[in-house]
Amino acid sequence: MDLKSLIRDVYDFPKEGIVFKDITTVLQDPAGLRFAVDEFEKALKDVDFDLVVGPESRGFIFGVPLAYNMNKGFIPVRKEGKLPYKTKSKEYDLEYGSAVVEIHMDAIKPGDRVVVVDDLLATGGTSKAMVELIEEMGGIVVKMVYLIELSFLKGREVLQGQDVEAIIKY
Ligand code: 5GP
Repeated sequence: MDLKSLIRDVYDFPKEGIVFKDITTVLQDPAGLRFAVDEFEKALKDVDFDLVVGPESRGFIFGVPLAYNMNKGFIPVRKEGKLPYKTKSKEYDLEYGSAVVEIHMDAIKPGDRVVVVDDLLATGGTSKAMVELIEEMGGIVVKMVYLIELSFLKGREVLQGQDVEAIIKY
């Protein structure tokens, strides 16, 4: 299936000069959604892991059906102040300013084998913050899988040492 044909380019979102890869057009297509989730599953078929970690909000969309299909647990990573229980936080840099991501402090136990899932890898900032949170809790990041990688933003370089796979690359 030509998944690229289902991804919509939105110009000047969220700000001028940015071409946003809109994946809602994949989600609303029954065959596209099935294909995308199946591709995530294929990328993980030989990976020994316990948990899927996905960030708000599009990491939830792909992470949950994947975890469900593969009989694993799902752990949400959210923006500051959204998770109800005690959290561990990590601040990371954005192009202008910074952001904070949080995870429940008891979500990962030492030795847990974790897969990180998100819709898109850009600069790698969000993903690196997740790796740091997981590793500080004693978890082991065994693989990171994305629907889309914007290769020209060099997120992989920020994630050196990690097993990174993307279903589609630009
Ligand atoms: P990074 O931290 O790698 O620079 O940015 C990746 C994060 O921002 C991901 O959580 C992703 O959902 C979001 N993101 C950044 N740019 C885009 C885009 O063009 N399309 C989509 N769907 N998400 C994006």
